[in-house]
Amino acid sequence: MSYVKGLKCRECGRAYPKQAIYVCEYCFGSLEVDYDYEAIRKNFSKEKILKGPKSLWRYRELLPIDGDPTVGLSSGFTPFFRTKNLAKRLGLDELYIKDDSSCHPTWSFKDRVVAVALSKARELGFDTVACASTGNLANAVAAHAAQAGFKCYIFIPADLELAKIVGTLVCKPTLVAVEGNYDDVNRLSAEIGAKYPWAFVNINIRPYYAEGSKTFGFEIAEQLGWKTPAHVVIPAASGSLLTKIWKAFKEFEKLGFLESKVKTRLYCAQATGCGPISRAILEKSEVIRPEKPKTIAKSLAIGNPADGYYAKDAVFQSGGSAALVTDEEIQEGIKLLAETEGIFTETAGGVTVASALKLIKEGKIKPSESTVLAITGNGLKTQEAIQKSVGSPITIEPNVSSFEARVMGGYNAPKTEERPCRSK
Ligand SMILES: *Cc1c(COP(=O)(O)O)cnc(C)c1O
Ligand SMILES: [Zn+2]
Repeated sequence: MSYVKGLKCRECGRAYPKQAIYVCEYCFGSLEVDYDYEAIRKNFSKEKILKGPKSLWRYRELLPIDGDPTVGLSSGFTPFFRTKNLAKRLGLDELYIKDDSSCHPTWSFKDRVVAVALSKARELGFDTVACASTGNLANAVAAHAAQAGFKCYIFIPADLELAKIVGTLVCKPTLVAVEGNYDDVNRLSAEIGAKYPWAFVNINIRPYYAEGSKTFGFEIAEQLGWKTPAHVVIPAASGSLLTKIWKAFKEFEKLGFLESKVKTRLYCAQATGCGPISRAILEKSEVIRPEKPKTIAKSLAIGNPADGYYAKDAVFQSGGSAALVTDEEIQEGIKLLAETEGIFTETAGGVTVASALKLIKEGKIKPSESTVLAITGNGLKTQEAIQKSVGSPITIEPNVSSFEARVMGGYNAPKTEERPCRSK
């Protein structure tokens, strides 16, 4: 059963059939999946979601596939929980984390979009998939392509973190490192994609791929008890995740799944060294000026964001705002989350935490209002970013006196029998 009518231009509204296309031939606007919401309303319900699989496919009716999903069956339905320690440190009463950095095949939110994109690529009859990536998408496409038996070409900027390169290579795709930044990689990929009959995940099948990000928003609303929070802080690269979280909340509202109207404010979190969307929001600018990225947050280093305008509009519609954080603040954000909640996130998560800190200081997020932080990737993949700022282990010789000399500052613990009795 399919609820997808086709594709529709986001600008002029022109309709297109379900194909591997992404721009409007008439106005060059980007295309979006068009659903039959009347049919969905009749056949989909909260009860059905609750009975569904513990994966993102519990929202299958709101995803752009025609048949059953075939790829990424374990993606999604990641942990969502209320924090105690971090909330206290940030001075908030009600702080939640949506954690896509663990419990996911390749430890980032990209396992959502790739599950949807490759299931769709299969339906459309492709045998080869490809992507341009800042790292996490490379990991997710390589892994899912290996499992699903697609041929796979991946294009990355040559200076990515080691773990993202190794984690991709191990799945044996053809990995192409381009001497340039992501925007160079993306431009080249569009040219290559026009020549080869491949499903280019974030180019010709981007309208389908992007829909996968809605599930991040669906899960927040469901896991919060069919409500949306007062604030969500979201790291942005192309701006797609942010745009689709907004769409997800609005779809749940439209279908009557929520207890009350959506009054959520969205916040775009980016690095000072690459923050074209946040900058435009903070300057209330109509245009998004492309930037040359220079930040440790490589997963977010897109200087010319494809969905920048839509993300900016979603932030304005929601009454939200944005933040820009320095590399030092990102490192502090990573460490703060680890020290308080035991979660080791990558640089993008550091951007989220640091941005939240800033938004609270500026009074944009108030202590009494419910807030969700989007933690989208795992820290083991970006160890270079904080290795130098976490100190090093204390090395000792394998004996107790060395331990006491070097670790306990020369303190000699009394022998067991000399210790005062500890029982009451
Ligand atoms: C890709 C990515 C994002 C943001 O992606 P969008 O392009 O804005 O949808 C956020 N966090 C991590 C870890 C990512 O890999
Ligand atoms: Zn158009």
